[in-house]
Amino acid sequence: MCRKRPFFGGRRGVGSVFHGGDGRNALADGRRELEVVYNVDRILDAHTHLTGGESAGQILACLDAVGVEKAFVFAPMLNVQAHEITSDSMQDIRTHNDYCADICSNAPERLLGFCTLNPMPALAGGDLDRAVDLNIEEAERCYEELGLRGAGELVATGWYADDPALERLWKKLAELGMYTVFHTGVFYDGRQSTYCRPASFEGVRAAPGFKGHLAHVGYPWYDECIAMMKVTTGVFGQDPSAWDLKVDVSFGPAADYQLEVWQRSIDTLPPAMILYGTDTFWPIEPEEYREQYLQPQLGLFETATTLGHIVGEGSPAREEYRNMIFFRNAYEHWQNAIKEPQRPRPSPGPSRPRTPIGATHIDL
Ligand SMILES: [Zn+2]
Repeated sequence: MCRKRPFFGGRRGVGSVFHGGDGRNALADGRRELEVVYNVDRILDAHTHLTGGESAGQILACLDAVGVEKAFVFAPMLNVQAHEITSDSMQDIRTHNDYCADICSNAPERLLGFCTLNPMPALAGGDLDRAVDLNIEEAERCYEELGLRGAGELVATGWYADDPALERLWKKLAELGMYTVFHTGVFYDGRQSTYCRPASFEGVRAAPGFKGHLAHVGYPWYDECIAMMKVTTGVFGQDPSAWDLKVDVSFGPAADYQLEVWQRSIDTLPPAMILYGTDTFWPIEPEEYREQYLQPQLGLFETATTLGHIVGEGSPAREEYRNMIFFRNAYEHWQNAIKEPQRPRPSPGPSRPRTPIGATHIDL
């Protein structure tokens, strides 16, 4: 019989950052229960989504419980139930960005906020250049007024990142110092995947100093994504601080491909290029976060490094790689991208209505 153990309740997070006391909890019969911790110094989740149905308190309580210190927090842009993009008008985009800044203002050291942008021609009567103008204005507003330092997860809907018309936007984001995350790979609305092929994102190389990452290793085009990322060192050199893009291994691959994507990534790319991310849609319970995302990803890391003969079990290098992928690779890239710390602006109103979980149109 399998007894489901409580994940916490006296017990602290899975990371070592937040554990305290003597690490043991007294049981009713007087025995002491050992605290279970993983050997990860710090954890940063480089891919989480606001939905409009969460509070900062819920997010922070979950992060505390699972030992995750920091998270990249993307402004609402998807209706999860309807499989639709919701950042498809400038008013929605602005509202979602205000909301993201408000949430992140509750913990600016931990919740790193990303504005949504979408230069789709339909925003401006089919005029791509005008849509680019509007998104440049919004990026400036998000930086200066909302205090955000990230943009993402941007989903290419009706535009290609390597279209010369987009260069002005990429240059603006680089000039501001906004870390930018792009969705790459198949897109779940069943309509836009063609725009999200990884090689299109070579277009950001038209913008010197551009920094960010590609999500999902481009699944199912992970071979294309890895090939594209592999040339980064040829273009920018071996020092990760000079690179433009990294990749996150967040949820995306179907089950049979998860190890394959991890394995190919870790075998072929520099270890400093790979980021832990989950694709979590807030709010979720800590049990779900741990079971669905953190524990499987830690397992995939261990298996892929063993099978790849990269770093042996028990070697100091194994621990080093784990700490890089689960925290340092993302945080150092973020620090290199931004010119000054984020200062997310709280909502001016005393309270804000919230929409149900998964609904992302927020009526303020
Ligand atoms: Zn994505």
